Amino acid sequence: MTNRELYDMIVIGGGPAGYTAALYAARAGLSVAVIERLGAGGQMALTAEIDNYPGFPEGVDGFTLAENMKKQAERFGAETKSTEVLGLSLAADPKVIETAAGTLAARTVVIATGANPRELGLEEERSLVGRGVSYCAHCDGMFYRGKTVAVVGGGNSAAEDALLLSRVAKKVILIHRRDALRATRVYQKSLFEAENVEFCWNSRVTKILHGERVEGLLIADVHTGEERELALDGVFVSVGRVPATELLHGQIALDEAGYILAGEDTKTNVPGVYAIGDVRQKPLRQIVTAVADGAVAVAAAEEYLA
Ligand code: NAP
Repeated sequence: MTNRELYDMIVIGGGPAGYTAALYAARAGLSVAVIERLGAGGQMALTAEIDNYPGFPEGVDGFTLAENMKKQAERFGAETKSTEVLGLSLAADPKVIETAAGTLAARTVVIATGANPRELGLEEERSLVGRGVSYCAHCDGMFYRGKTVAVVGGGNSAAEDALLLSRVAKKVILIHRRDALRATRVYQKSLFEAENVEFCWNSRVTKILHGERVEGLLIADVHTGEERELALDGVFVSVGRVPATELLHGQIALDEAGYILAGEDTKTNVPGVYAIGDVRQKPLRQIVTAVADGAVAVAAAEEYLA
């Protein structure tokens, strides 16, 4: 392994948390690379309009914000490696990161892998993505203008998605396994007032009905088991998120849901390894809290490196 491949810091994940860590690390004079599988931005890049990130009075789209965060970090010398992490040895010294493009070594590792949409786990759910199954109303909603869609879930995301879709689709059917939403009041009020939103309470989806594309859903009453069919053109799954920590099992302490156990100082139970953004166990997963984590992790890493 050449010196060139030994970094002061490797950041895994190029969302807002990851690129903020890279920015702070580069400005602190550390050699730093961000490993990103797709493009910059993570989940943020899929958000059409962000209105709660300060500094943008008219709002900003997630893709632009992501690209700007990346460019800003790169201006100070941060590198981006577009590849996939295949394995990690976090307890080693230096720490070793196996990627599809080769092996890297680092004195510190910052994990910023975020969280991905949770699937319903139905047969053919995955193969129907792009043919009527979606996990992103912001990305795919416009394809359902004048059509009938379902949103599955009862949290803030499902409520937000149902509201967004109600402005585009002819009809939105919100399917929830309970008899009440857990979404905040402000969403509930708007949803109940929307004329084209219907609710299927106490219901779970048991099957996706389809030909070439989604044509309907089979839903079952959670109490009686009674099933019925809903004819529709698309289904938006909005049932929470799953942390991207598969590669970390056995290497680092995780909570029961799979989020990395690290406090506000972002330190994990492995010295020199930090967890930032949505992948960390935390009370509020937002862009502002993710970027704050990125800065905090670099301060902790500098202390460790010194
Ligand atoms: P969430 O709050 O965890 O809600 C997930 C919903 O999906 C719950 O209603 C849950 O049902 C349901 N669910 C989970 N697994 C299911 C399954 N297998 N089948 C059917 N239903 C299932 O997740 P979220 O709505 O994605 O929100 C995540 C976090 O982001 C929350 O903290 C939320 O407040 C925040 N958020 C905030 C905003 C905002 O402030 N504007 C917008 C979006 C999200 P049960 O109720 O039965 O558990």
